[in-house]
Amino acid sequence: MHKCPYCFDDVSPDTEGKECPHCKNIIVDDLLKIDYPDSDKKACTYCGKKINKPAIYCKFCEHWLDELDQSINDFGVMEE
Ligand SMILES: [Zn+2]
Ligand SMILES: [Zn+2]
Repeated sequence: MHKCPYCFDDVSPDTEGKECPHCKNIIVDDLLKIDYPDSDKKACTYCGKKINKPAIYCKFCEHWLDELDQSINDFGVMEE
């Protein structure tokens, strides 16, 4: 099973180097090869829609999520 490295939705192997049909990003990184169906979901920080848990890009509101993870966990600390 191949997954988009950004939105973690299933894609076909020939998607590499092309646009992801789900999140519309050009897949320049390697496709993820995962042997099991990943059904874990999380709510997008921006729009609240359910996206794949490991995803770093929300296909619904088109935001990148990876930069936020740390600051959310350190809730209340407002340095910098
Ligand atoms: Zn994608
Ligand atoms: Zn979103």
